[in-house]
Amino acid sequence: MTFAITAKTIFTGEACLLDMAVIVKNDIVADIIPTSSLPSDMPCKSYPDGFLAPGFIDTQVNGGGDVLFNDDITVNGITAIANAHRQFGTTGLLPTLITDSADHMKAAICAVNDAIQQGIPGVLGIHLEGPFLNSQRKGVHNPEKMRVISSEDIDMITSLPQGKTLMTLAPEIVGNDIIRQLQQHNIIVAAGHTAANHDQIQSALKAGLQGFTHLFNAMTPLHSREPGVVGTALSDPDSWCGVIADGHHVHYSNLKLAVSAKPQGKIILVTDAMPIVGSSKNYFTLEDKTIHCRNGRCETSDGVLAGSNLTMAQAVNNTVNQLNISLDEALRMASTYPATFLGLNDQLGYIKPGYKASFVLMDFHLTVCNTWINGQESIPPNH
Ligand SMILES: [Zn+2]
Repeated sequence: MTFAITAKTIFTGEACLLDMAVIVKNDIVADIIPTSSLPSDMPCKSYPDGFLAPGFIDTQVNGGGDVLFNDDITVNGITAIANAHRQFGTTGLLPTLITDSADHMKAAICAVNDAIQQGIPGVLGIHLEGPFLNSQRKGVHNPEKMRVISSEDIDMITSLPQGKTLMTLAPEIVGNDIIRQLQQHNIIVAAGHTAANHDQIQSALKAGLQGFTHLFNAMTPLHSREPGVVGTALSDPDSWCGVIADGHHVHYSNLKLAVSAKPQGKIILVTDAMPIVGSSKNYFTLEDKTIHCRNGRCETSDGVLAGSNLTMAQAVNNTVNQLNISLDEALRMASTYPATFLGLNDQLGYIKPGYKASFVLMDFHLTVCNTWINGQESIPPNH
């Protein structure tokens, strides 16, 4: 099937185009042509008050639509999470399993593999956040489930046959030989929930560490004589840093600092979202704890942050309005750069001929009006 989409502007990931139409053939962008050259018999969706951009890619999604991935490790669970986030412009995501047993990790990898095989829209792989973390920086993870990595664990982590696997670990707990081994198996390794010092992170970067999970949160801070994980991450030009731009996890001044410290393209927006995204409830359960969300902040009764109710659309909005970053660059931080981090920038993160037809359509108040994943349209239910 071939159809066209026109909008007031089309942001390709590189430039804003006016009076142009995107031609979609099946699941791929076939061409971008002047609206005036559109064949009169081609089906066309026109959005004169909106802009079309590459769909958002969220590399850290614990839940959505009342589902926590750790509690519903099934294709249905993944589908509910992906659908909840799609309303807010996410067209690609990594369901994220936080620290859990080996059996649950195996089940999660199987469920993600099945979801990809069944063509569940938007599933790009899996993010395993833990359990090989440092309990000194546990956040809301259960320290009793944290453990030392074994050779069976490595076989399991490297077992997803399709899609991407992102592994968040504490380098000082796991060690560089294992980071090297994981990287050689095409696992994307990120540091998180870590108490490492500068030298430990530097040597992990040399061994193949590629990113930092929720920069600033659950890691050693920057001190004058010991840069910690934060200072080392910010001074390293090659690695990527995920940030939770919800105004609760990180002060916006620190996010501005991170954006100016890193080369362009290395800060990516993530949600770290919990089941309340796309739900009418303002609470959820994490293991035996009830997590309440008040004024956008999800926390335990002890005040420990427990993920977020952030959406990618809101993260883009905050990046524009709180960090004073241009809309083009905020959109790249939500799509082009995470696609590059995942090694998918030859098919996602841009609107270009030959790329997947995965888009978000927003109005100029940054409200999501429509999405396409691999050419398949979905008008969000709240519209
Ligand atoms: Zn975390």
